[in-house]
Amino acid sequence: MTDRFETHEHDVLIIGAGGAGLRAAIEALAKGASVGVVCKSLLGKAHTVMAEGGIAAAMANVDTNDDWRTHFRDTMRGGKFLNNWRMAQLHAQESPDRVRELEQWGALFDRTQDGNILQRAFGGHTYKRLCHVGDRTGLEMIRTLQDRGVSLGFDVYMECAITRLLKDGDRISGAFGYWREQGRFVVFKAKSVVIATGGIGKAWPVTSNSWEYTGDGMTLAYDAGAELMDMEFVQFHPTGMVWPPGVQGILVTEAVRGEGGILTNKLGERFMQKYDPKRMELSTRDVVARSIYTEVREGRGTEHGGAYLDISHKPAEYVKKKLPSMYHQFKELADVDITKGPMEVGPTCHYMMGGIRVEAETAAATIPGLYAAGEAAAGLHGANRLGGNSLSDLLVFGRRAGAAAAEFAKKSAVPRVDDAAVQDAEREMVEPFERTGGESPYEVHRDLQRTMQSLVGIFRVEEDLKAALVELELLNARAARVRVEGSRMFNPGWHMAKDLKSMLRVSEAVTRSALVRKESRGAHSRIDYPNYDPAWEKQNNVIKREGDAMSLRQTPVKEMPAELKQLLAEEEVTAAKT
Ligand SMILES: Cc1cc2nc3c(=O)[nH]c(=O)nc-3n(C[C@H](O)[C@H](O)[C@H](O)COP(=O)(O)OP(=O)(O)OC[C@H]3O[C@@H](n4cnc5c(N)ncnc54)[C@H](O)[C@@H]3O)c2cc1C
Repeated sequence: MTDRFETHEHDVLIIGAGGAGLRAAIEALAKGASVGVVCKSLLGKAHTVMAEGGIAAAMANVDTNDDWRTHFRDTMRGGKFLNNWRMAQLHAQESPDRVRELEQWGALFDRTQDGNILQRAFGGHTYKRLCHVGDRTGLEMIRTLQDRGVSLGFDVYMECAITRLLKDGDRISGAFGYWREQGRFVVFKAKSVVIATGGIGKAWPVTSNSWEYTGDGMTLAYDAGAELMDMEFVQFHPTGMVWPPGVQGILVTEAVRGEGGILTNKLGERFMQKYDPKRMELSTRDVVARSIYTEVREGRGTEHGGAYLDISHKPAEYVKKKLPSMYHQFKELADVDITKGPMEVGPTCHYMMGGIRVEAETAAATIPGLYAAGEAAAGLHGANRLGGNSLSDLLVFGRRAGAAAAEFAKKSAVPRVDDAAVQDAEREMVEPFERTGGESPYEVHRDLQRTMQSLVGIFRVEEDLKAALVELELLNARAARVRVEGSRMFNPGWHMAKDLKSMLRVSEAVTRSALVRKESRGAHSRIDYPNYDPAWEKQNNVIKREGDAMSLRQTPVKEMPAELKQLLAEEEVTAAKT
């Protein structure tokens, strides 16, 4: 039966060619596995390429007091202690080596006077910690990883979207997908699979995320029976463009604040004084986003409903050197010269802290043979991610996922691909062409985005979340009836019909988790429960598929070992010393 389809076979199949996927591929190759990398856009074009501000790693090149302990503490504190502490520990300990390795592979970072990698300040980081290349760090990272991976020899399947994971009994056996250009179906047989598909931002209309971020990987894993975790924690970055409307949501990097940018309201007040007088603009993203939102809601917003962010007090040449993309972005898209005046900024849906539940050491998901890393995986960032901690996450856990997937493959026989599952995956994909009624998938997507923006946004309340669940049920029913015109070749409507399923799944998971977490923590702000609840600090929300229903339960956060508890307790002492 699978003979009908183009078929490829690998030890390790990696879905996603961003930082996490490429780093996983490099490691799996180094372990001697044959590796296939599938990505739904072009190689080198993944979301990682958009990363601007830098990679957080306690290298202590600029602030010599920095070390992994402080990075660990900052990450835990930023994540409001809900983080998987072991992931936070590994991440803080291993990031410097992962950055050095990138340098050895050819990445050219900005430099200190004495030739070390330059590091900049970022929100929530005690020290200057972000290794960067102007505001184009992601581009350098992808370029380096891609060169390295290609030279080591993985097979790349570009513009190919995976729609289903295949299993042999309980374990993973491969994936089913299609070539986006021609619409032909393809089967991948693999002993292990790494999901590195990134986030979910396209479920909201105002987002910094590209078209690729539709929650596919989380949905693939969920449908295959894996667990999702912490889905209520969606990060709204405080500074997206707000004007003109066509560019609303595009990111204004935190590096602007890292380089000294100042936030004011329409009255000229530096309002962060009220919300976080100690850290001001370098407070964590959740705090700054809520502060801007509150200023606007209380009538002190700018003309187009945001805040002013100003870096023009710095010399023009400095701004152009340190923030070249921001300079061009505002000049070309908004006709604003940021060396002469302020930008208008407001919150934009940016990053998913939740995702596939994984084990810290190996990035193994809860199905044998399945691994996940990068933004698609949960745990490291807890309730809120610090800027710069994603790129280091990709390197640290991409590497671990690749290594573990290769080890698993070594011990594994070639699994069987279930013909019935392949047939079902094909049927699901061709159905939208066969319907005679039904609406366009774009209409359902538009209404989904409206629902998530208005009912499951920065501030949440029980009534809205319940209303959102009702809406999502209706949207699910509409999505099951969408109709696509034309053929499978070059058909964006068809891609959207597939993406809709993923966005609806993750939206439901976010909403259900947000409804039960009756407290405010990190990126999750409940108007009806505005305070921390210490009991919730010890609970992760875990989502699993039960038949066609989404089940939700809490699991206790694992007890932290005494030496790490001690590190957190030392926080005030360290702060006093510096
Ligand atoms: C504008 C912007 C700036 C940022 N700046 C920073 C920063 O300075 N520092 C920082 O730490 N973080 C930053 N972030 C966050 C960071 O860039 C991302 O979290 C990170 O790059 C995610 O990497 P990833 O490898 O998990 O996924 P991605 O880089 O998004 O890669 C996902 C891959 O999965 C593929 N894919 C998705 N679905 C499928 C499917 N169904 N089938 C096949 N392939 C699929 C995609 O094609 C892509 O190749 C920024 C984010 C944005 C939006």
